[in-house]
Order: sequence, then C-alpha cells, then structure tokens
Amino acid sequence: MLAALRLLLLLLLLPSLSLADVLSLPATEQPVLPGPFMQVWQDPEKQADIDDVRRLPDSAWQPVARRDASFGYSGNAYWLRLQLHNPEPRSMDWVLLIANPLLDYLDAYGLDGEQVYRAGDQRPFAARWIEHRQLLLPLRLAAGESRELILRMQTEGSANLSASLMTRAAFDRHEQRMLLLQGLFFGALAAMFIYNLAIFLITRDRNYLWYSLFVASFGGYQFIQLGFALQWLWPHSLGWQQLSFPLSSAVTTLFAILFTYGVLELKNAPPFYTWITRLLLACTWLVIGLALLGPYRVALIGSFALVIVGAVLASLFTLLRWRAGLRAARLFAIGWFVLIAASLFSILSGTGLIANSLLTLHAQQIGGLIELTVFSIALAARIRQAQSAHHLAQARLFAKEHQLRMEQAKGLDLQRQINDGLELRVTERTAALQQALSELSGAHQQLSERNRRDGLTGLLNRQTLNEELHRTQAQAMRSQRPTAILMMDLDHFKQVNDQYGHLTGDACLQHAAQRLQQRLRAADLLARFGGEEFVAVLSDTDLAGAHELAEQLRDDLARHPCIHQDRIINLTISIGVCAAIPTSADSEQLLNRADLALYRAKAAGRNRVENYEASSLSEA
Ligand code: GH3
Ligand code: MG
Ligand code: MG
Repeated sequence: MLAALRLLLLLLLLPSLSLADVLSLPATEQPVLPGPFMQVWQDPEKQADIDDVRRLPDSAWQPVARRDASFGYSGNAYWLRLQLHNPEPRSMDWVLLIANPLLDYLDAYGLDGEQVYRAGDQRPFAARWIEHRQLLLPLRLAAGESRELILRMQTEGSANLSASLMTRAAFDRHEQRMLLLQGLFFGALAAMFIYNLAIFLITRDRNYLWYSLFVASFGGYQFIQLGFALQWLWPHSLGWQQLSFPLSSAVTTLFAILFTYGVLELKNAPPFYTWITRLLLACTWLVIGLALLGPYRVALIGSFALVIVGAVLASLFTLLRWRAGLRAARLFAIGWFVLIAASLFSILSGTGLIANSLLTLHAQQIGGLIELTVFSIALAARIRQAQSAHHLAQARLFAKEHQLRMEQAKGLDLQRQINDGLELRVTERTAALQQALSELSGAHQQLSERNRRDGLTGLLNRQTLNEELHRTQAQAMRSQRPTAILMMDLDHFKQVNDQYGHLTGDACLQHAAQRLQQRLRAADLLARFGGEEFVAVLSDTDLAGAHELAEQLRDDLARHPCIHQDRIINLTISIGVCAAIPTSADSEQLLNRADLALYRAKAAGRNRVENYEASSLSEA
C-alpha cells in the first residue's frame, strides 16, 4: 500500500520537478530538506565504487523528486548526488543531518577534500566524525563555493535518508531542545516504569507487571531506534545492534499482548479471545526467534506486521469489551486510538504526505507517551474501582455484622427472660418441695417418736426399751462399766381400778410415771413395761447406787398420792433391782433378774426394794 502511495505521489510531483537544481544554501535558521535537489542511482549488485559512479552518464541518474529520500526495504545500494552552493560572501559551516540512525552503511564523498566519511550502525560508533546518535555530516563551504556531494546508502532496513541541512549554529540550538525533550520522554517512561512496578510489588496484580515491562520495552525500543543505544550502551556490538531493533519491537508487542489480555479480562470473556491471543503470542515468539537467529529483514518486517496486527486486534478487542460492558475498556480504547493515530501520522510523514516537522518525526514517540499515560490513568482507575468495590464489600459486611449482633442481642434477651421466669418457677417449686420435705420429715420424726413412746404415760414403750437396753448393754460391755435395772410394779393396782374406775386408774398410771421420771437423771431410761409395770435402765450405776435410787423412788411415790377428781389415791410401788457388767448384749438376762428381785419384794410384803443376789454373775 505504501509503495502504491509513493508511486502516486511520484507521478503527481514529477512534472514540476524536472532535472535537479543546484541547492543554494540560505543562511537562515530554517532547515532545508534536500530531497528535491538530489539524484539517485541504484546499484543492486552493490559492487560500484566512487570512481564508477563518477563516470556514470547524467542519464543514469534519476531525480529523487521527494522531500525525503526514501526507498523502502530492497537492500540495494543507493548512490545520491547533490549540488550545493554557498551564495554568501563568507565561508559557512553547515551540517547534513541523517535522522535515520539505523542505516547500516553511509559513505559521504566531497565533505572535506579527499576524506571519505564512513559511518552507519554497522560500523563502530567511533568511526563517526561527530559523536552523535544520528549521522551528522559537517560541511564547510567557502564564500560563493559550489560543491558536489555524493552519498552512498546501503541498509537491510528502511532505506530512508531522512536528511536535512542546516547551519551549524541552528543545529546546536535545535539539538539542545531535542535533548531536553528526549530526556523528558525517557524520564516520563522511567517514572511510569518504576511507579507501576512498585504497584505490582505492593498489589501483586500481574497487570501492573506486564504494563511496567511494556513501558520498559517500549522505552528500550525507542532508545534503540533513536540511536541512543549504539551511542551509550553498545558502541562496538554491531551484530547485537542490528538484531536489537526487531527484537525490542517484538518484546514490546509481547508485553503489550499480556497486558491487554489482563486488563480487558479476556480470561473471563468468550474463549475466542483467548484463542486469538494465544495465536498472536505464538507469532510474537516466532518473531523473537527470527530476530535472534533468522534473517534480519524478515524479522524486521515480521515485527512491524506484528505491531500493526497487534494494535488493530487490541483496538478491536477493547471496543468489543467496552460494548460488552467492561467500563475500564473505555480509557484503554482512547489509548489505543492515540497510538494508532500516531503511527498513521508517522507512516504518512514517511511517505511525504504530511510535512516533515519535529511533530511528525517524533509522532510515534509522542503518541506512545500519551498512550502510556492514558493506560497509567486507566490502571489507577482500576485501583479506585477495586478500592470502592472493597469499600462496598466492607460496608455490606459491617451491615451484616450489625444485623447479626442485633439478632444475637435479641436472642440473648429472650434467653434471659426465659431464664428469669424459669429460675423464679424453679425457686418457687424448690421452696415448696423443701417445705413438703421438711413437713414430711417432721411428720416422719413425730411418727417414729410416737412409735417409740407409750400412748398413756408418754414413757418409752417396751419395744423401744428392748432396743435401748441392747445398745446400753453393748456400750457397758465395751467400757466394762455396770448397768443397773429397776423393775417396778404398782401394788394392788387391780383394787384401784375396781374402786375408782379405769379412768382414775389411768390417771394414777400417768401420775406414777411422772413422779418416777422427774427423779431420774436425763441419761437414764424409763419405760412402761406392761400394764402397771415400769422399768428403769441406769447406765454406769452399781447395785448400791441403784438400790439407793430405787429407795428414793419408792419413798417419793408413797409420799405423793395421786389426786384425781378431788380424790386422793395413795399409791405404793415394789422395786426389784439388779446391776452387772453385762457379758452379752442380750437384754432378757438382766430383766429376768430384776423381775426375780421384784417377785421377792412383792412376796416380802410390797412397798419395798429388793436386790437380786446370785453368785453366777459378776456383781457390781
Ligand atoms: P399386786 O400387788 O400383786 O401386783 O396386785 P395387783 O392387783 O396390782 O396385780 P394384778 O396383776 O393382779 O393386777 C393388775 C391390774 O392392773 C389388773 C388391771 O386391772 C390393772 N391394769 C393393768 N393395766 C391397766 C391400765 O392400763 N389401766 C388401768 N386402769 N388398770 C390397769
Ligand atoms: Mg402386775
Ligand atoms: Mg401390781
């Protein structure tokens, strides 16, 4: 397409520019583009030397007829001829600036007497007459001098001379401005590289890594393309210099693809995006391989094709993703648009359709810078988006937590209410239960006490006497102390009943029991043994002590008659006493002995005390 455009341009311009004129150098600030004053002779065999060329007939030379001498990627040797004239009345210093630092070989004849200028990026940097990233040819013309300049250009890349002529002073001023701008450009790239790399290191979001590498490789590509790399980085490594250009272009494309794939979130998009991206990546690796090992020109054209295809696909994908609702794609679309516009600008200026100025010469640089800045902003917007998404999620979480807390509090409250009610009821129930239990145990106690006592007299009953006696005897056995028993029987009680009635008899029984009880010690036991019979158990008491007590009891009852319904009823009692350290817990033995003693007391006339005396027991 470019070739067709050039042909069209050539046909349009041909009539106005016939034979090349002599270029009369004006002493102005403005640079002069010498293209239209140049004539060219192509040498496909690349064998001709300067003498052969000088011998060529005029008819062999073709007018360049363009403002820049650009001949595409043929690889031929191009001889260019230019007639210069200094109209000034003084000698003038000029420079011929060849703004294509990637030209492999450039020879110049007629600059300074017989000395031949030989430079280009396939010759060591030191070969240059002026140390400069671009090819800079010094030219001094005496007052009114005319000179023929012959250039030989041979390159595997773009045979584009990009020549301009200016006074040395104008160039120096121009150069200062240029270096400042270039410094700004690479400084901006370096800042973006460091910034995004830092963001990658903090966030671990791969997109920032790809982007920072994209920026770095784009910077490297520009550094090489503008001739800085050969000047400052590898002034002697000519092989590397040659392959570094397509290589850096392909590597830039590689990172651009990875970055674009990430930020457009193509992984989550329909699968054809991934397939196409993979295909493009494969092509990129192929071009990288070609740049390293293959023929230079194929690698170069491959890398350019890759850039164009990649940029078109990236713009297309960006627009499609934008339409699919990816908001971040909008800014990326602007970035790609700027890059494509800049590239188009650059191509058009290369073909001569747009005036070759500072702007067009560096359109790609400026476009790239704008594009990268826009991408940077887009990436920053991503952070904001992620941040606000994070905030939103956090707010939602807080709300959820709050709600949960409220529900929890409600639950706790309910629980407390239930617990309180439950506790109250349990306390009530427990109190009632305790009340019932204590009542029950009181009743039980009363019942068992009643069971132990005789209903009429309130003394221990016979059953209890047996139990208590058993215990007392067992203890006496252990302590080897004597136990005494008094067996007591009211005298002629049948007659009392007969004379006063049974009720009075009962009162008399009660009276007798009371008199007996009040005379005994608290530790002594008193029981109603039968009808009008009583038994006293005196622990730790010998026979003499027991006898004395029995005598007191007898005497006491005899002195205190029972008074009932205004009637005085005299009562007497007979007592049998026995005392011993028991040899068994059997209660019968001691009781029988006391009973025997009582029998003797009755027999002896009643109202008296008798001891049981026998040699078979150990008497106390
Ligand atoms: P002795 O001097 O020989 O003991 O003559 P006694 O009449 O007291 O003896 P006996 O054993 O013949 O009579 C006992 C009487 O005691 C018979 C009974 O009427 C009376 N008696 C027994 N138990 C009760 C009672 O609970 N109440 C009344 N009022 N009398 C009773
Ligand atoms: Mg009796
Ligand atoms: Mg009696």
